Amino acid sequence: MEKQRVTVAYGDGIGPEIMTAVIKILKAADVPVEFDNIEIGESLYKRGILSGIPNDAWDTIRKNKILLKAPITTPQGSGYKSINVTLRKSLGLFANVRDCKSYTPFVASPHPGMNLIIIRENEEDLYAGIEHRQTQEVTQVLKILSKPGTENIIRYAFEYTKAYGRKKLTCMTKDNIMKITDGMFHKTFTQIATEYPEIKSDHQIIDIGAARVAAQPESLDVIVTLNLYGDIISDIAAQVAGSVGLAGSANIGKEAAMFEAIHGSAPDIAGRGIANPSGLLVAAIQMLVHIGLPVYAEKIANAWLSTIEDGIHTADIYREGLSEQEVGTELFTDAIIERFGKEPTILRPVHYKGAGIHFERSINTQEKKELKGVDIFLDWDKNDRNPLILGKGLEAFTDGELKLKLITNRGVKVYPDGFPETFSTDHWRCRFLNPEEKTVDYSAVLSLMNSLSGAGYDIIKTENLYTFDGIKGYSLGQGE
Ligand code: NAD
Repeated sequence: MEKQRVTVAYGDGIGPEIMTAVIKILKAADVPVEFDNIEIGESLYKRGILSGIPNDAWDTIRKNKILLKAPITTPQGSGYKSINVTLRKSLGLFANVRDCKSYTPFVASPHPGMNLIIIRENEEDLYAGIEHRQTQEVTQVLKILSKPGTENIIRYAFEYTKAYGRKKLTCMTKDNIMKITDGMFHKTFTQIATEYPEIKSDHQIIDIGAARVAAQPESLDVIVTLNLYGDIISDIAAQVAGSVGLAGSANIGKEAAMFEAIHGSAPDIAGRGIANPSGLLVAAIQMLVHIGLPVYAEKIANAWLSTIEDGIHTADIYREGLSEQEVGTELFTDAIIERFGKEPTILRPVHYKGAGIHFERSINTQEKKELKGVDIFLDWDKNDRNPLILGKGLEAFTDGELKLKLITNRGVKVYPDGFPETFSTDHWRCRFLNPEEKTVDYSAVLSLMNSLSGAGYDIIKTENLYTFDGIKGYSLGQGE
């Protein structure tokens, strides 16, 4: 059988030391993998390759599809882009997997028993970066969620939970507020959960979920969530685990994947032979499961846990009373290799259930789409911003096809029957619908916009109001 080829980037700072250690362990475990080294990072920036990734490195990354990457120093100052973001976006790495675990009693942690995996959607949500300033007072950002993107991350999370022999998958959203976007994420989760009856699944609203990540992380097993929530809770979780230096992270795409430690290049200790290679090793173990080599992953993981359990610790985790022996990178590496075949007795040994993570999307994205009206957003700063005056003015534009239904300001209904207490900005959402809920032609929208613009209204944007298979594809206004 042809061996899997893995691209290896030795990185900056402590990168070369910890990567050398990890490759030594992988080779000693006889993993059936060939390694192709590339040079990316600070040295490249200094030679004027501003992306930090030269063309031949891209060729190797794209050919092999699997990248094991040591930390890279992000140069200070303007003009340089983060290599991580470049790699993630260019390779379509839609899932970020963060392993947040405590190793008590051998490594001090405020949360003994914490063993949490966070799977974060990596490409969509508010991170699409589509922002606009619309009026003097109002700015907006678009939160974009796609059905295929949502299905990818949720299927991946279930498959991951299965492959790693985990028990429970928790979905976190804010669908009590964002019923359409987060609602789709939650609904997709519930739908796909039926295909995995062996995995317990539940849903938590992100605010209480995040509080539990901080206060009772041991009650959680695997979490799947949207990009922004995942960004925040994975940092909380890494901190409360007390083992940032031992955590790995994976960025997974349909084709390609990248594995790395969560810590940086630690320039303060570079070249001293004392860096802890564990974070990168944990990432390499994730990589082995990902590429379908769980037996090798298990052998290395259990030897590593045994080393931690035997109190053989690098300086960053060495504690008088908890540790037996303080070692440098090389002795730590050799101690792991000596323990191949051993399992820890107090820390829980790992057993991976699956080999590789594969899935196909199957959710239908084709539904009957019908136009029912339009939300027209106006910049309007007249008549003391009195919504009654705006409403009465807009009522005059009813043409049989479309009729003013309501006006909201920052989502709150202000016309008809608004409250005088509601604060109004200069940004008004004016909803026009067909009074009999019939389907309308877009020409009706254009003609309405023409009339409004002709009458001096400042239209800043529109959103069409569709139904999909008869279900409203738009939210109601607060108070509608
Ligand atoms: P850092 O994680 O490199 O270091 C923080 C502290 O932790 C330092 O005291 C360091 O000595 C210690 N430390 C980190 N890893 C260690 C290890 N394996 N063993 C022992 N001690 C370890 O964070 P920083 O100092 O903020 O960042 C340094 C550089 O790394 C910056 O240029 C930053 O942009 C970059 N960085 C890169 C990545 C990445 O490539 N994924 C991630 C984070 C930071």
